[in-house]
Amino acid sequence: MSFSPRTIAFFLAVLITTITVVFLSFVPGVTAAMLFVVGVSCLFGSFFFVFYTIDILVFREVEQIYKTIQKMKIRDFDISRKSLIRSVNPIKRLNSEISTYVTRKQQEIDELKKMEQFRREFLADVSHELKTPIFAAQGFIHTLLDGAKEDPKVLDRFLNKAAKSLDGLDALVRDLVTLSQVEKGDLKMHFENIDIKHITEDIFEQLESKAQSRGVTLKIKPKDMQSAWVLADKQRISQVITNLVDNAIKYGKENGKIIVEIEEEKKYYQISVEDDGPGIAPEHLARIFERFYRIDKSRSRETGGTGLGLAIVKHILNAHHSKISVTSKIDKGTRFTFKLPFASQELSR
Ligand code: ADP
Repeated sequence: MSFSPRTIAFFLAVLITTITVVFLSFVPGVTAAMLFVVGVSCLFGSFFFVFYTIDILVFREVEQIYKTIQKMKIRDFDISRKSLIRSVNPIKRLNSEISTYVTRKQQEIDELKKMEQFRREFLADVSHELKTPIFAAQGFIHTLLDGAKEDPKVLDRFLNKAAKSLDGLDALVRDLVTLSQVEKGDLKMHFENIDIKHITEDIFEQLESKAQSRGVTLKIKPKDMQSAWVLADKQRISQVITNLVDNAIKYGKENGKIIVEIEEEKKYYQISVEDDGPGIAPEHLARIFERFYRIDKSRSRETGGTGLGLAIVKHILNAHHSKISVTSKIDKGTRFTFKLPFASQELSR
């Protein structure tokens, strides 16, 4: 329970008045009228005396604390001098404001520490990822310069390997640029009405030869679907579907089947990319969207993976106010799912 200075002053004044009047009533010759006058003046006198004493003491301190806060130039300390002075219990108010502020600052400090840790890890990961293809290309070229170039077969093989490493480096740098742009919000999304069914067919065409080389068949479900119009950034959503189908080809089983299913819901289309590959173990499932997280590092590198594909997918979908989810069963396959809203009527007019 908390008391305001006014309430405390009132109770103390009543107490002082009662004691005074009771004592005075024992004094011979004191009339009722005298007791009344003394009582009233004592009540008012002591009330104002106590009230101003508390008030001055409390507010002097409060003002002092307020000035200190002002000196600290805390912009996000949202308490005005007026509201503080006017509040019933300023010390309590100040106390609660300070503790809210301290909690908020603590959260900010924790967040900054986490980001710092994350930045350090990211820098270490990037340097490592850059080092691998650079060292490989450097190794092949130096070996050639040291004499291996005399053998035309070795020359051809090593040049091809160096070129492959540099292609990997190029893919990595491009993915890093995309990721940092999406994260910084620099990448302006250009929302328009697009036919996701048509886009998927185009992507299937582009990935056809890669799928064929592993004997994988690509299918859209439902078969008889004519079109599926959604509101999205065409280029970025193409990138999402390409990454998911490309992964399904790379990590799915040979001679397997990949199905892109487009389901119509109430206000959106649900798009799933499903393969019948080896699946992803539960301990990896939550982490595959992290940057550079790979289940099988050598398989990923061998297939030209940068380890950034799913992180990019996640960020692009976030920018579409959508989310990617994944379910997987070992030896049965993996299914990635996301939603996109129906095309806008206004845009199609
Ligand atoms: P990468 O460039 O290595 O393909 P991604 O971010 O696209 O990076 O994927 C992260 C990891 O998730 C991959 O290295 C792979 O181990 C795993 N993965 C992604 N898609 C599938 C899938 N369809 N089936 C099995 N594993 C997958």
